Amino acid sequence: MHKYQSRGDETTGLSEWKKRAPYRIHEPNEHFEVKYEANCHCGRVHYQLNRAQPLDSKLCHCTTCQTQHAAPFQWAAIFHKEDINFVNGHHDLEWYDPTAKSIEHKLPCKVRCSYCHSPIMDEGRNMILLFPSLIHFKTVEDRLNFKPRCHMFYNQRVIDIPDGLPKWDGLKDDGNLIEDSPPELIREVERKREEEGEERLQKGENA
Ligand SMILES: [Zn+2]
Ligand SMILES: [Zn+2]
Repeated sequence: MHKYQSRGDETTGLSEWKKRAPYRIHEPNEHFEVKYEANCHCGRVHYQLNRAQPLDSKLCHCTTCQTQHAAPFQWAAIFHKEDINFVNGHHDLEWYDPTAKSIEHKLPCKVRCSYCHSPIMDEGRNMILLFPSLIHFKTVEDRLNFKPRCHMFYNQRVIDIPDGLPKWDGLKDDGNLIEDSPPELIREVERKREEEGEERLQKGENA
């Protein structure tokens, strides 16, 4: 047995997690329509996505993300747990719960490749927050689908980003909107994004 696999066994008892989303490997007859492919830096962890447009895409400036990613902020896209299919390496994962500072698989937690330690995603109770830097975008449109739509925990930022996007001092819709970007500009950006999304939908590119 792989040593990292046994680590997962220990932390969860019966490895039941391997049979459940987001780690469940889809059967060939499930028609998992591959829209994107992604892998960690070393390539051991390889996954696919079947949803073209993430439910949301955001930049997080919180100090936990700064520390965990060794970066000024983190870029994450939200998906349902059933939207992902691990092709390879779902035995090569490790977990970290920043709240309890524990490596048990306890939600919500951070998920990394156990070999190269690339952050793969944050696994929440219902959703996953994937790090799109791992995805191989084939077209400009694909990349546009993942364009960040807001900033979170912007009050903890290390750099100002005057991009007109909504900026929250906590979680989106749960904190205060920081008016670093003028509200009318924010509304304009949101309106444009929705319009463009509808146009793409009409063209059938977003099915
Ligand atoms: Zn890796
Ligand atoms: Zn964060």
